[in-house]
Amino acid sequence: MKEEMEIRSVTEEKPSHLWHAMHRHDPQVKQLVAVKGEGGWFTDEAGNCYLDGVSGLWCLNLGHGRQEIIEACAAQMGKLTYVPLTMSHQPALQLATKLSDLLGGNYQCFFSNSGSEANETAFKIARQYHKQTGNPEKYKIISRYRSYHGNTLGALSATAQANRRVKYDPAVPGFLHVYPPYAYRSIFNGTKEESDLKAAQLVEDTIRWEGEETVAAFIMEPFISGGGVLIPSMEYIERVQDICNRYNVVLIMDEVVSGFGRTGEMFGFMHANAVQPDIVTMAKGLTSGYLPLGATAVKDKIYQSFKSVGKDNHFRHVSTYGGHPAACAVALKNIEIIERENVVQRVHDLAKSHLNALQRLTKYDHVGEVRQIGFLVGLEMVEDKATKEPLADEKMVGILQNCKQRGLIIGRNGDTVPGQNNVIIIAPPLTSTEEDLMFLVETVTDVFNHLF
Ligand code: PLP
Repeated sequence: MKEEMEIRSVTEEKPSHLWHAMHRHDPQVKQLVAVKGEGGWFTDEAGNCYLDGVSGLWCLNLGHGRQEIIEACAAQMGKLTYVPLTMSHQPALQLATKLSDLLGGNYQCFFSNSGSEANETAFKIARQYHKQTGNPEKYKIISRYRSYHGNTLGALSATAQANRRVKYDPAVPGFLHVYPPYAYRSIFNGTKEESDLKAAQLVEDTIRWEGEETVAAFIMEPFISGGGVLIPSMEYIERVQDICNRYNVVLIMDEVVSGFGRTGEMFGFMHANAVQPDIVTMAKGLTSGYLPLGATAVKDKIYQSFKSVGKDNHFRHVSTYGGHPAACAVALKNIEIIERENVVQRVHDLAKSHLNALQRLTKYDHVGEVRQIGFLVGLEMVEDKATKEPLADEKMVGILQNCKQRGLIIGRNGDTVPGQNNVIIIAPPLTSTEEDLMFLVETVTDVFNHLF
């Protein structure tokens, strides 16, 4: 599709009634209207082609138009359109078993429609678990600054980025935040490993200072994504697991972005040794974005406390569309393809052989750090490498626009200074061709050469 590329500005023509996510309501700014997709590419109404370098919202892992997935969806729709999961249907039963197997433990899966809901579900399960296992005062949920856990009020309260929350405060009571492992701007001295271990120590200190009898859960993305791609040393994750075990704190691993191969392992936490979270939340790559689906996988040890013959211990929580038969059928097919095509290994290999070339961008004065794990990359942009002052907003916008004009969509986030998003995000579909990845690296390099 790349050959057809000649970008003319084609956008929504008239004022529309569509309320876009995350955009300022500026009538001068019109969004492009995408019409057709193939692999990692999509075209707009005028036929301009773009490589989607962020997989939509890091979800389109297998790219557009996989016929097998579309057929699995249609077949399920034709067979059984809907029943709620107060009953059972085969796609949900099979998917729950498959996810438990993939996670390498004994997990029960509760299905919802999104990552936010998967996390909300996890918080409620963690609180109820403690209430019915003799620890009714354990209700606090700790997360890290810079994390993103979703848009609903509970998930947003766990999200610790001021700019996303400030207009909707006050947060739900009982959510606390700790300093993340962020060696590039660390408050601690020492190497990255030392700095990250001190960040882990803060988790323990916070639990103790808050009173361990009051802390229900700790939620973490293995690699903070929406807060600027912060990649800790694996010892950090291992240490946090150990701390949670010692203080009877439910470890919730938010794998909404990192799950299903994005980082070169099936799940992000699998990069670390001996980590087996109590709860794993998933969405996005679970269906590669073909249909909405969220999942909250809960270790059997916790699930057992919800078994309630003669008691009122069951989970008082229902989602009309959660675990929709078509979404589960899509997820099963998606996982089948990931396994059959060795997508996870492919990400691991191509990340090293092709995407790794982005490391060379540190030669530019405005690139403070390149952080990469698998197909998840963040470029921390600065005015000046010595002061690490975040790159000015208009320069960040300029980078994204220049890439778009050359047919490449990339993103940005970070919240380094609240509201200041100075990290460029690159997360292409996991099935990107070698050519796609080369185009991506060349285009970003070309734009940097042009601008800096
Ligand atoms: N958790 C993480 C780590 C995310 O990045 C996101 C969304 O980007 C969510 C949860 C929320 O997912 P959703 O947008 O499907 O509600």
